[in-house]
Amino acid sequence: MIQIPPEDLPSDVRGTLRRYQAAVDAEPDFGKRVALAAVKFRQRNRETNLAFRQVRRTLTSMCAGAKRCMYCEDSAADEVEHHRPKDLYPEHVFDWENYLYACGPCNGPKNNRFAVFASGGSIVDVTRKRNQPVRPPIKGDSVLLHPRSENPLEYMMLDILGDTFLFVPTAVAHSQEFERASYTIQLLRLNQRDHLPVARREAYGSYKSRLTEYVLRREGGAGNSALRLTIDAIRRMQHPTVWSEMRRQSNLIPELQHLFGLAPEALIW
Ligand SMILES: [Zn+2]
Repeated sequence: MIQIPPEDLPSDVRGTLRRYQAAVDAEPDFGKRVALAAVKFRQRNRETNLAFRQVRRTLTSMCAGAKRCMYCEDSAADEVEHHRPKDLYPEHVFDWENYLYACGPCNGPKNNRFAVFASGGSIVDVTRKRNQPVRPPIKGDSVLLHPRSENPLEYMMLDILGDTFLFVPTAVAHSQEFERASYTIQLLRLNQRDHLPVARREAYGSYKSRLTEYVLRREGGAGNSALRLTIDAIRRMQHPTVWSEMRRQSNLIPELQHLFGLAPEALIW
């Protein structure tokens, strides 16, 4: 999971979302705000709604490859997902910064689950259980990483060297950074779905082939515009985490050390 490059909505669409949000916020009762948020989001999150058509268009252009999910980078993103669930945080139901584009297999199990750091640093699961009264969750910073506002790869790394292609938290065990990475990996099932490490390993092979192709073209005398086509193709590939990690770990893995030694410019593309 990489940090998603920022993109803004047209100002009229931002205005529409603010208006939608204000109507929810105007309801004084929290329980009714939650119900209103669910109904209004369902009504508006449709292709026929011009604002949401633009929201989806912008989210699509922020995704890697062919509209790949911002969490797993593998499946097609087709669900506007709330980082802070709307059932717990109706004040963020129409908040652009709270939106991600996710696939069903990521969004489904995540659903309304959420946890925060309580004062003192302990993790509190604020997910509302069935039949629990609808009350505002306790305040606290998010445990789940937010790839639009922070870089997940500062908290975790992909195990390429060990050939597992699983995510591993990088901070000291039990630190907040460690807990955030662990929670995110677990909640989104980034290591639990067997096809994901397989797909990352395949992407690793494809990235190496593309980089080799680039080196051969450059050595064969290809001009800048021809080389640019290969660079752009690499940038559009899915599983961009694999590419980020190949560059970050290039000194640790002999075959990458060799490959990036032939094309050191690729380290800063
Ligand atoms: Zn996904």
